[in-house]
Amino acid sequence: MSEGLAPAYYFLDAARAGASLPRGFLEQARAAGDVTGARADFPALHQQVNGRPLVWFDNAATTHKPRPVLDAMTRFYERDYSNVHRGAHTLAARATDAYEGARAAVAQLLGASSAEEIVFVRGTTEGINLLAATLGRSLVGPGDEIVLSTLEHHANIVPWQMLAQSVGARLRPVPVDESGQVQLDAYAALLSDRTRIVALSHVSNALGTVLPIEPMIAMARARGIRVVVDGAQAVAHLPVDVRALGADFYVFSGHKIFGPTGIGAIYGRRDVLATLPPWQGGGSMIRDVTFEHTTYSEPPARFEAGTPSIGDAVGLGAAIRYVMGLGMPAIAAREDRLGHLLMAELSDIPSVRLIGTAAHRVAVASFVVEGRRTEDVGRALDGCGIAVRSGHHCAQPALRRFGVETSVRASLAFYNTEEEVHTFGASLRRIVRGR
Ligand code: PLP
Repeated sequence: MSEGLAPAYYFLDAARAGASLPRGFLEQARAAGDVTGARADFPALHQQVNGRPLVWFDNAATTHKPRPVLDAMTRFYERDYSNVHRGAHTLAARATDAYEGARAAVAQLLGASSAEEIVFVRGTTEGINLLAATLGRSLVGPGDEIVLSTLEHHANIVPWQMLAQSVGARLRPVPVDESGQVQLDAYAALLSDRTRIVALSHVSNALGTVLPIEPMIAMARARGIRVVVDGAQAVAHLPVDVRALGADFYVFSGHKIFGPTGIGAIYGRRDVLATLPPWQGGGSMIRDVTFEHTTYSEPPARFEAGTPSIGDAVGLGAAIRYVMGLGMPAIAAREDRLGHLLMAELSDIPSVRLIGTAAHRVAVASFVVEGRRTEDVGRALDGCGIAVRSGHHCAQPALRRFGVETSVRASLAFYNTEEEVHTFGASLRRIVRGR
């Protein structure tokens, strides 16, 4: 670790700033074990790419899968596979237990009151589209406003914009300061009697900023405004307690928390979820159907029409049990250390301009290199076996706030190592020097 880089656990700062953390979290964090050994559980991380050991720094795009997730999915397909909820046979019962067990795991990860508050969807994008079509259509009308931050992923902009355009409402983005943090006073000023929904990222995918969503949610709820949180970049890195946060809805994707693609979840507060109309119609979401009239199931079934992605849900359940077994405090502590090291490496290279330097952040660094196209930097790093993302990261308004169209993004997970961060820094220095 470089000099002056004593681990400054962001969650200790957050606690001092009055943010609620799950009960016992600080005690656990102080006693957190070492999770570095868990890297051995991820087969994909142990390969050579372009003649060099793979350095996977593209975790904000997606994460690799540990052996217990791969094994759980194989076991499910080899032994227990069936459709759920329907057949009265043994495999249907096993598959249903596995699917509902995954729902219970999601509820536990998020601190929901019950598994009935968890709706399975394909991922964050589908979850937000579902909410725009149900919550949005119920609440938003002509002249109304939806408040979101400048940092949002397109998945948390476009569905709301499509809704707003169809009903004559408008989006009101909250500005961010030079560090890439939202301006709370500007946010407070944007909330009005016209605001129907606030839609916020918990963590920005492009910049790594952790938004102060707790006070933001409290301010909205004090005015009776519904809040949707996009937790896609948070769940694998931060402890999340939806009840402490007070969010009405919290959405995430399984593939960003070491689970498979094709599965994600919406947490919806029970009383609010119960008021939403169905989204897609079909099997499994009904109580009774005639040609004249259909009555619908209670949540969560009301929102899960058709055969769900059962095997992927099983994989997600295994991924959640895996991270909870390691402990979010241990994961957070490790990533905090890696994040500081990453920023130190980049700050040391004169032609690198960091985009987003907020104090409260996860281990994500977004940057541009003077005189170099971001895609060229990404390609050159790939030549060294290092996978980063270069592009607009599906967050064009966020990058344009800093006067750039694209950036290079290095995004870490707990399974990355100090050595990889140093390799990345050394490779980038060589690329910048043109060697
Ligand atoms: N929201 C954020 C903050 C994201 O980072 C992403 C993916 O990068 C999404 C939403 C969309 O997630 P998905 O593509 O899994 O639906």
